Amino acid sequence: MGAMQRESRKVSRRRFLKEATGAVGAASALTILKPRWVRGAEKEFGVVVLLGPPGAGKSEQSRRLTARHSIPIISTGDLLRDQVRRGTQLGLQADTYMKAGQLVPDSLMNPILEDRLSQPDCARGFILDGYPRTLAQAESLDALLKRKGLPPHIILLEVPTERLFKLLTGRRICPRCNRSYNIYFQPPQKENLCDADGTTLVQRPDDKEEVIRRRLDTYQRETQPAIEYYARQGRLVRVNGDQPPEKVAGEIESKLASQ
Ligand code: AMP
Repeated sequence: MGAMQRESRKVSRRRFLKEATGAVGAASALTILKPRWVRGAEKEFGVVVLLGPPGAGKSEQSRRLTARHSIPIISTGDLLRDQVRRGTQLGLQADTYMKAGQLVPDSLMNPILEDRLSQPDCARGFILDGYPRTLAQAESLDALLKRKGLPPHIILLEVPTERLFKLLTGRRICPRCNRSYNIYFQPPQKENLCDADGTTLVQRPDDKEEVIRRRLDTYQRETQPAIEYYARQGRLVRVNGDQPPEKVAGEIESKLASQ
């Protein structure tokens, strides 16, 4: 990344902070919201938004970030799947869209997310996995985070489309602990059993070939404009997601530390 790009991101982050914090001066707000490893464990961490196409490894990287920085993972896919599992009215409605590989409408999605983010464990910050997925969601997230005074770090995991297809068709999940494997690239030690708890792994219903194609199309059509929105403002941090998970994690940490 060039020095100019870095500087422009700092400027736009400062502008966001200034607007977000109102009476608090931008310089002191920046100090408050500096990453935790720079300042010690007692201060605020902030928000990390993980963007990337389906299968890019957002969940895996969320888990690594949460282990390192002790802030919760808010995965909108998991929030929706939980509603489906519990058979709520909302879950029943969302399920139809999810099975078809389409986005769940904001009228269903946003209230679930806002409710989750209002819980006390999110007060210091959180990792957002799977949101925003549209330009409208990116704008409404900015408004929400400004109200909360939590400026986000926006990370984009970049993975070539040809590789995503194998990553998604090969993905298997542990239904008990949610750990994710891949039969091609990251198989469990015992075939089809979770390393952590021995539960039989399952394939997500939306990881079937025709649904995957639709999800990747949806990403191009709907989510790309959100990515361009952040890029235009100089707020996007690009990370090479096409490398071993520990390398991706290392790149994320060093880029977060330099923000
Ligand atoms: P994920 O686990 O992130 O791949 O999400 C699984 C499915 O949940 C997606 O294909 C969508 O149908 C739905 N979903 C997750 N996040 C969102 C979101 N931010 N907006 C709308 N639908 C979502």
